[in-house]
Amino acid sequence: MHNFPFAGPPSVSFEFFPPKTPKGWSLLDQRIDELVTLDPSFVSVTYGANGTTQKRTHELVERLVRETPLQPVPHLTCVGHSEVDIDRILEGYADSGVRSILALRGDPPLDATVPEGGFTHAADLVRHIRRFSDRHGLDISIGVAGFPEGHPETPDTLIAMDHLAAKVDAGADWICTQLFFDNHAFHDWRDRCGISGIRVPIIAGIMPIASRSGIRRMAKLAAGAVFPASLLRAISRAEENDDEAVAQIGMHWATEQCRDLLDHAVDGLHFYTLNKSDATLQIHRALGVHSSRRLRSV
Ligand code: FAD
Repeated sequence: MHNFPFAGPPSVSFEFFPPKTPKGWSLLDQRIDELVTLDPSFVSVTYGANGTTQKRTHELVERLVRETPLQPVPHLTCVGHSEVDIDRILEGYADSGVRSILALRGDPPLDATVPEGGFTHAADLVRHIRRFSDRHGLDISIGVAGFPEGHPETPDTLIAMDHLAAKVDAGADWICTQLFFDNHAFHDWRDRCGISGIRVPIIAGIMPIASRSGIRRMAKLAAGAVFPASLLRAISRAEENDDEAVAQIGMHWATEQCRDLLDHAVDGLHFYTLNKSDATLQIHRALGVHSSRRLRSV
């Protein structure tokens, strides 16, 4: 049986990243105060591959535990880490009372080699966390990444599905997807997951477009993400320098995505917030609710 300890369905969750500067921390505090009112099922905190944000990720998770009613789910990437490193991080989280982890591989530098006692794929990390959890009697809930529009390293979609199934077989309890803009791609991929015997909850990753330059950044971040013609056409109608208009189009598109996903009984909605609150608050409002609880009750 999978362990999905979050309020829902659908769960409603937000992603934050650990800021670099004191100003960033103070802005994030304000955003969290605003988003807490939506009563999310959990909030996730990103982790820089190769441990680049290790301390800051831990600090943000600790703050969330200590200072908010939110349930944090730290991301953990295994590239560049040995088993000993990973155990030290897991022990830290266990001591803080964290019982859910999003287990990822991360993107290794091109010249990277796997350290001795390290991990090659996310499935290896999942297996390791599951063993750690069993050894310490912690019942950790493990999430993994899913890619409805494919992952650039594995163009063969049947093999990609085998790799996803391997993460679930290794002990993953739920899947959170890469951002996408074409719901048909998500629905079809979710059906294919079912055909492959994947039965764990699948949370849909949503990231509203906020500006023209943001589209380029998103395309880089989520290599392979398709921007549907109808979305690009709407954006091309906006004046060249009118980012406000582009943000409204992005927000409207994301709202319609969420409405359709809810209609199709999605297990969860995960908002990539980029440490902002406007779009997430507006989408809730446009869906007619002021609290994620209402999304859960439909
Ligand atoms: P894997 O599942 O290991 O897959 C990586 C590639 O290897 C895929 O192409 C897969 O098909 C292939 N593969 C898997 N198993 C095998 C095998 N046995 N043999 C051959 N090939 C195999 N990155 C960060 O650095 N920090 C974050 O906080 C972060 N958060 C994320 C959150 C979400 C929800 C998502 C969707 C992505 C996130 N990423 C993050 C990005 C992620 O680390 C990269 O997309 C990475 O390239 C894939 O990670 P994975 O966990 O899916 O890896």
